[in-house]
Amino acid sequence: MNHVSRRKFLQNIGLGSSLLSVSGLTLPSNNFINSNNDQKLNVALCGLGRYANAVAYGLESSNYCRLSGLVSGTPTKAAEWAKNYRVPSQNVYNYQNFDKIISNKDIDLVYVLLPNAMHKEYVIRAAKAKKHVIVEKPMALNAKDCEEMIKVCEDEGVQLAVGYRLHYEPTHLEIKRLGQEKVFGQVRYIEASLGYKTDAPGDPNEWRMKKALSGGGPLMNLGVYCIQSARYVLGEEPISVTAQFGPNTNKAYFAEVEASISWQLYFPGGAVCSSVSSYNFAIDRFYAGADKGFFELSPALSYGPFKGRTSTGELNFPVINQQTQQMDEIARILLTNQPLPTHIAGQEGLKDMRIVDAIYKAAKTGKKILIR
Ligand code: NDP
Repeated sequence: MNHVSRRKFLQNIGLGSSLLSVSGLTLPSNNFINSNNDQKLNVALCGLGRYANAVAYGLESSNYCRLSGLVSGTPTKAAEWAKNYRVPSQNVYNYQNFDKIISNKDIDLVYVLLPNAMHKEYVIRAAKAKKHVIVEKPMALNAKDCEEMIKVCEDEGVQLAVGYRLHYEPTHLEIKRLGQEKVFGQVRYIEASLGYKTDAPGDPNEWRMKKALSGGGPLMNLGVYCIQSARYVLGEEPISVTAQFGPNTNKAYFAEVEASISWQLYFPGGAVCSSVSSYNFAIDRFYAGADKGFFELSPALSYGPFKGRTSTGELNFPVINQQTQQMDEIARILLTNQPLPTHIAGQEGLKDMRIVDAIYKAAKTGKKILIR
């Protein structure tokens, strides 16, 4: 697709206007990667929504991936995508015939970009079709489902990654280094928050507002980034949590999911991370206070470009396409049949979902909840 027609295509589907502003494996037994033997991973996108557009756009600049397949429940959209991205018709599936992908040697990996409640089913079906899988955040609706997804992928000899785009982003790699190498001494306090204002009265058809499809509100959608950043800056796992639901300002719209939620994670080294995620106001920032200084970002957790400083100066790192970088890093590992590092594998999503489960429990009970 040329630049103009791609931009028109993205405008038509609404990307950029309402896109949300908005992460110990054994080696796979199967060596089925890259049947074309051309050093590119053949990727099928499953669920052609807003974020699939961002990933497809990122794939256009990828050195190690190719958009080779589509899975969609909307035939007209699938046809338009197939044309725009030159995907052959035999590589286009719907949710009914998806399992036939097992016999398609031109697809190496399925990227699941569906509403949260569908992640588990499609990860399991992709794994049973002997395809590697990337699943979007949140990995599933709860930790138990994540455990099942990991087990099936292990049993099928495929690798499972979570789409944690910030794990490859230079500014985030730097705050991880500043925290874990204690460049400003021990980090004692973190604030990491992400929220945006939904348009009142809001789209009644938006799956994010339906608990059965989303599993919850801004915590499921945005809170994962706050939890992630605290974990990788500290290099520790939280041991307990307290949490509070925010006020429900629009009871009709927030009938099924929380409007806002705040929580405090307590880490074994003594650090505390305080966060809020919201559909009621915009916030996008990260702050770490340490013994000998601080470092902070705002914007911090969205698509950026990120802006940051430390107690000794500005943080200036190149702006990259987060999706291209993520896909290339994952593909380089899969193409050489190496195990994915744990920080982007299914285990990482499981850790986050254990914390999410504990946050909801803490908010519902008003008690401090231990995280196993
Ligand atoms: P969208 O609503 O834009 O797209 C979801 C797509 O899933 C739809 O377009 C549709 O595609 C398919 N679908 C199948 N069944 C349903 C259903 N019952 N209701 C709605 N859609 C359905 O969602 P997003 O792209 O914003 O989010 C998808 C996933 O990506 C979520 O898990 C989200 O958390 C994650 N995400 C990650 C981001 C990141 O930065 N990493 C940013 C935004 C989202 P089709 O018509 O082709 O079947």
